[in-house]
Amino acid sequence: MKKIVILTGAGISAESGLGTFRDEGGLWAQHRIEDVATPEGFARNPDLVHHFYNARRVQAQQARPNAAHEALARLQSASDGEVILVTQNVDDLHERAGSQNVIHMHGALSGALCASCDARWRAPLKMNRDSICPKCAAHSARPDIVWFGEMPYQMDEIYHHLREADLFAAIGTSGNVYPAAGFVQDATQFGAGTIELNLEPSATVSAFAQTSFGKATDTVPAWVESLL
Ligand code: NAD
Repeated sequence: MKKIVILTGAGISAESGLGTFRDEGGLWAQHRIEDVATPEGFARNPDLVHHFYNARRVQAQQARPNAAHEALARLQSASDGEVILVTQNVDDLHERAGSQNVIHMHGALSGALCASCDARWRAPLKMNRDSICPKCAAHSARPDIVWFGEMPYQMDEIYHHLREADLFAAIGTSGNVYPAAGFVQDATQFGAGTIELNLEPSATVSAFAQTSFGKATDTVPAWVESLL
């Protein structure tokens, strides 16, 4: 296998204690997407948005990578070919498991972004409406997270990898958020094999050639063993 492109979603971090989008009672369930994950929501109530991401940043820092993150890091280091990891997750559990060059298409909790001048810097554990941009000194610091209505990061690079992929795998993602949900169709068109590893069938399950259902900590290590 020369090139494997892997897309991960919130489901891979669920067993590390980070709630998925749809978890009942989880952080996401307590807030409306329009309030905490859109530029309009941030403009309306920056305190609420900072409070939400501060809580997620603390939670992510306390979480530990699980067997699924570790298996993917093993695949990256032991594979003969290239293994490209694209994540929709804003936590850093792939990196802490040892993965290299992770593409964070929806940004990262560890990053801060100036809404005025686009400067980027490492986010402190807690941000607030008084956080100042170190470059232009504007009071317009925001989490470096891609919100709904914004363009995901590194899309040209991702499509370049999808065009070259021999195998595309989607792990722990519900297939509801585009453009990531469309990668399986793109990869298929470009001639790659496809596999979904998820707790339950995603919205795009019918587009995958192969599936493996169960907890990520069971299915991902088993899949990685089968490849190595
Ligand atoms: P999602 O919540 O929509 O879907 C999660 C998927 O994971 C579901 O299909 C579910 O069946 C599956 N799942 C749940 N537990 C699992 C387990 N133990 N093993 C395997 N699969 C499991 O998440 P999404 O598709 O990533 O998209 C939602 C958006 O929310 C993304 O943009 C993402 O950036 C954001 N998000 C990120 C995090 C994080 O960084 N940890 C957490 C929540 C949401």
